[in-house]
Amino acid sequence: MWLNELSMTDRLYYRDSFLYDFDAEILELSGNPRPALVLDRTAFYPTSGGQIFDTGVVSTEYKRLNVTEVVDTEDGRVVHYLEAPLGDLTPGTRIHGQIDATRRRDHMQQHSGQHVLSAAFVRLFNQHTVSFHMGDDYCSIDLDTPTLTKDQVEQAESLANEVILENRPVDIRFVTRDEAASLGLRKIPVAERDELRIIDIREWDLSACGGTHVKQTGQIGCILLRKTERVRQGWRVEFVAGQRAVATARRDFTTLTESASLFSAHIYDVQQQVRKSLDEVRSLRKQREQSQEELAAAQAAAMLAETPESSGRKLVVRTFADRDITFLKLLAQKLTRLAPNVVTLLATTSPQPSLVFAQSAGQPNDMGALMKGTMSKLGGRGGGSNDMAQGGLTGAEGVKAALNSVAQSLHT
Ligand SMILES: [Zn+2]
Repeated sequence: MWLNELSMTDRLYYRDSFLYDFDAEILELSGNPRPALVLDRTAFYPTSGGQIFDTGVVSTEYKRLNVTEVVDTEDGRVVHYLEAPLGDLTPGTRIHGQIDATRRRDHMQQHSGQHVLSAAFVRLFNQHTVSFHMGDDYCSIDLDTPTLTKDQVEQAESLANEVILENRPVDIRFVTRDEAASLGLRKIPVAERDELRIIDIREWDLSACGGTHVKQTGQIGCILLRKTERVRQGWRVEFVAGQRAVATARRDFTTLTESASLFSAHIYDVQQQVRKSLDEVRSLRKQREQSQEELAAAQAAAMLAETPESSGRKLVVRTFADRDITFLKLLAQKLTRLAPNVVTLLATTSPQPSLVFAQSAGQPNDMGALMKGTMSKLGGRGGGSNDMAQGGLTGAEGVKAALNSVAQSLHT
């Protein structure tokens, strides 16, 4: 895709994370697969080291093109992907670049927040960060530790926020690999580069890192730790920093407030209210089951009493309009156990059209086969054993007629 093998990009963000505007010259262009260009110098950060790319605008006197993604190539180019076709741009064209400052500031808050937090976990519990992920909503670090308690999370959060409050300087330093070895870095990359870029949070953390960072820890604002979960390598800790932390806390508060208003309760009582409601639901469910049981028993007795015996057998056929299949099965069970000579064909048309066929133990029919036959006529699915079978339908049409037709077949 790129023809010139020597077009390395000068990364302006390496020296100044707060450089949002810059002038540059186009070195290479490509329209395939997406419009893209490589500049001689750039302030746009390409996705790398856990940090996601900058977006922004590249413009000439006549043109303004949105930069939608920025990537790092293995051979040292920073590729800017553009929304619109390149038009008359050519190598040598001078452009003005402008990155989305709000997005960049957010990324700096998250990334510097991560350095402060990772160092806090090391200092407090000797728990080392093995990976960092920055998403659009939240960030996470993976800690190399077999256990992580709620108390440890809260202590690390508290210490990290203290370091933010102390407003320590954050410096960018370039050192040789040998120098780095003597500095006691929290993290040294494996890449074989002679010069290392070090992010130095005064007397707190030294890490080799290519990311964009704040100038003072106070600019991180604050850090809020959220979900923790066990992962393959240890524990994942989700966090948000700066304005993201405020936005997240705002969203949490809104959710909690709306939940509280559903209960007409104070937000701090939501938990208790939810627990109370769940207990109520559980107890009502139990009561309902018992009522259903009693109702089925009473109804079965009444149905049997009003069904005449014919050829030594009672055939009970009934279609309900408002029972569920659980009740039909319960009723069938009661009916066939109340007497030894019962055959019953039950159906309900709503809420979910369903059929249940059953017979007392020892009766000679095959209810499973009858159900299968009926279902294939009605276009539903079902089956079962000799004594008990059930089926379900998408529509209630023809249910009554089908039941009558099965009843007829049993009479002959
Ligand atoms: Zn970093």
